[in-house]
Amino acid sequence: MAQIYYEKDTDINLLKKDTIAVLGYGSQGHAQAQNMKDSGLNVVIGLPEKSRSVEVAKNDGFEVLDPKKACEKAEVIQVLVPDTVQSQVYEESISPHLKEGKALVFSHGFNIHYEFIKAPSNVDVYMVAPKGPGHLLRRVYQEGGGVPSLIAVHQDATGNAKSRALAHAAGIGAGRAGILETSFRDETETDLFGEQSVLCGGLSNLIMKGFETLVEAGYDPDIAYFECLHEVKLITDLIYEGGLSRMRYSISDTAEYGDYTSGPTVIDSQVKESMKQVLSRIQKDKGGEFAKKWMEESRSKYKNFQKLRQENASHPIEAVGKKLRNMMSFLSKK
Ligand code: NAD
Ligand code: MG
Repeated sequence: MAQIYYEKDTDINLLKKDTIAVLGYGSQGHAQAQNMKDSGLNVVIGLPEKSRSVEVAKNDGFEVLDPKKACEKAEVIQVLVPDTVQSQVYEESISPHLKEGKALVFSHGFNIHYEFIKAPSNVDVYMVAPKGPGHLLRRVYQEGGGVPSLIAVHQDATGNAKSRALAHAAGIGAGRAGILETSFRDETETDLFGEQSVLCGGLSNLIMKGFETLVEAGYDPDIAYFECLHEVKLITDLIYEGGLSRMRYSISDTAEYGDYTSGPTVIDSQVKESMKQVLSRIQKDKGGEFAKKWMEESRSKYKNFQKLRQENASHPIEAVGKKLRNMMSFLSKK
């Protein structure tokens, strides 16, 4: 089991004399930077002049510098640009200013684990990875709470890398919820596996195939949408609050009986075999095929990725959903 730390196990003062450069001001950047600033840390934002995020960061009260300048000024450099551009930002802006004793920080282990970035041995390399999207991280912090986060140390040059990681995690508010220690390998490979086979890829395909099955059998697409997509939230909220048992306690006995008898025939041993294949394409010691493919995509200007994005966006369930959600006044229109 992972070692879990709380605020009392951290010393945020360790980072108070440092300047922390947060490169990128997207989902994670805006949230982590603001939480750290509100926790009393000195944060500057590194963004290219032409970036649309510059105005946003300035409006949030930050000093915004060119990434090179930010890296020169900072003792702690946190890389929150998209994973596929991190190695380029590293070569251009970070590497020239990565002086002895500085810290290089990530929120996902992708580039370090698959060695697209190789840091010199005289700097600390650690990770602080919140287990939630940036907007949640910011909102929960403002409400006085925190989002559980992972920390990992890849390289400890100063002897202080882990204390720095704990202080950094406390800065984003994670100490209020729990800080779990892991490794770059485990964070990277489990994160990719989870999003591909269960959370994003698994769930969306489960929804689409369920919807298709009902519609192809002649049922009303509106009803199929409610059964196969809309109610997912109601079920996952129960699972989130109290695990599978809480969900099974809340649903009818009929639903529970069908869960046990039909569920395993849909998500069967064949699906588990496919999951194992997904995992082995992710694992570095099996060749790291997924990471290579994804970096190739970025080099070919995401041609295939854009095509997949369009194909998926034009699935009939999306048009049905758009129409039905207009009837739901309780949904925020963003
Ligand atoms: P994002 O796409 O939301 O934001 C990226 C930011 O980087 C933008 O502000 C963009 O303007 C900026 N940027 C792009 N190119 C740049 C460059 N060349 N130089 C400087 N800035 C540049 O990204 P994100 O989702 O916040 O992801 C950042 C990191 O956090 C990734 O490593 C990701 O894996 C990790 N992470 C994300 C989430 C999440 O919920 N989104 C959760 C955990 C970890
Ligand atoms: Mg994830």
